[in-house]
Amino acid sequence: MPSTFSYEFKTPTYSGKTSFNTGIYINGEFRDGSDSTTIDVFNPATGQVIAKISEGTPKDIDLAVEAAQKAFESSWGLKCPGAQRSILMNKLANLMEKHLDELAAIEALDGGKTFFWSKNVDIVAAIDCIRYYAGWADKVTGQVLETTEAKLTYTRHEPIGVVGHIIAWNFPLLLMCWKLGPALATGNTVILKPSEMTPLTALRMCELIAEAGFPPGVVNVVPGYGNTVGDAITHHHGIEKVSFTGSTLVGRKIMEAAAKSNLKNITLELGGKSPNIIFDDADLEKAANWAAFGVFWNQGQVCSAATRLYVQAGIYDKFLEKFTEKLKAINVGDPFGETSWHGPQVSQTQYDRIMNYIQAGKDEGAKVHIGGERIGTEGYFMQPTLFTDTKPDMKIVKEEIFGPVGVLIKFEDEEDAIRQANDSTYGLAAAVFTENINRAIETVHKLKAGTTWVNCTNSLHNNVPFGGFKQSGIGRELGEYALHHYTNVKAVHVNLGIPMNI
Ligand code: NAD
Repeated sequence: MPSTFSYEFKTPTYSGKTSFNTGIYINGEFRDGSDSTTIDVFNPATGQVIAKISEGTPKDIDLAVEAAQKAFESSWGLKCPGAQRSILMNKLANLMEKHLDELAAIEALDGGKTFFWSKNVDIVAAIDCIRYYAGWADKVTGQVLETTEAKLTYTRHEPIGVVGHIIAWNFPLLLMCWKLGPALATGNTVILKPSEMTPLTALRMCELIAEAGFPPGVVNVVPGYGNTVGDAITHHHGIEKVSFTGSTLVGRKIMEAAAKSNLKNITLELGGKSPNIIFDDADLEKAANWAAFGVFWNQGQVCSAATRLYVQAGIYDKFLEKFTEKLKAINVGDPFGETSWHGPQVSQTQYDRIMNYIQAGKDEGAKVHIGGERIGTEGYFMQPTLFTDTKPDMKIVKEEIFGPVGVLIKFEDEEDAIRQANDSTYGLAAAVFTENINRAIETVHKLKAGTTWVNCTNSLHNNVPFGGFKQSGIGRELGEYALHHYTNVKAVHVNLGIPMNI
């Protein structure tokens, strides 16, 4: 029998209890994985194991597909009107709201993000996302297309069937809701694999999904490793679509698996190395604050983090001075600390990876302007770090570090800024700071990125699409755009009187 995770939070920012099942969730029931093995879950603030959860296997994916197919045919999909799906999704959002603090605390414990940000951004946005798509559930319609008077021609937007969701660890619950929202609104059933590093809120959500009254098999959650459970999802012939959020490296594997199996439909939300262009007419105080938010929020573990900072030559020194003040003011500490802004990195592996990049930057001749060191001896805390004196072909300029590390680079004029900003294999996001609106708009129109920001960074809304150009992805999350990835469009031709004589 799967165990229960019970934890009592007694912290300066939150006190309360949580207790939930840690089994894999298939057909509305928690169970052990078919091999009865477990996965250790760590607290990144201490490096200690806090939970052991059931580990899924490819055999469990077979069981989940069976349950999801049955639910699709009998109680969901075309069998459940959109208005009813909407009611259930709104019930789920209300339950999430009731447990907002608890969900935020689990997320902070599991992933190391501060309770403050977890509560006020991640969980609030996750709840809003489910509500936003609940509103769409009875509004996804086809069209009547005029052809000839002798025909009725229309389209239906039918749910695809069983869809697989594989997600990253940096926004566990939010990414889960970005996927569940459009998939459920359009009538698909789901098999979701959370990251093996941060599976706890996904499991807590299963209890809320059951309590909201979703029929068994509509949402199945199978935690496990990428090369077993993730691989089984991407190769399974009973799964007709996979929506993936993670690294570009694994995104390629997902695409290969889709091609080699049943040519399943895929959406890929991948990595980034986003530029932030700060022109000489920018409001420097505003630019320095947003630039720091753009690099260091969520410990720099943000796919759209604007970590390549391009600053116009005339204000470079002044900006550097101001930006350095901001970095010094970032309070790195216990995720539940009252004044913590920045928690630990998510794992030993990520911590080591980031430190290796910092070493590579030094080895290649860049200068650590500030930071670069570990903080304390327990957990994975590190200093916000800024490099200067870089060259365009350095690893720290080209590759996604996925940690609190930025590079500051000088540019001469608009053309130079745009050329350097677009010199990347990625194209997820880009920011521009200027007080000149014409310059802002001209620049963002020339940037090769799926999301562009003027005088802000890391700003998203559930009704605005998010996704990448180039190797940052295929398809879009959020907004009406995401709904298109979850339906098959069927054209219906009804002959009202066209003769055919053979
Ligand atoms: P990752 O690619 O290592 O893992 C992502 C997920 O894929 C995990 O659940 C993992 O278990 C699974 N996985 C690993 N190998 C697999 C395989 N062979 N087959 C199927 N699944 C497999 O990424 P990560 O370290 O969890 O997350 C960080 C990355 O995610 C960064 O590159 C970041 O930019 C990206 N990300 C992108 C977005 C976006 O919306 N574009 C959002 C968040 C994170």
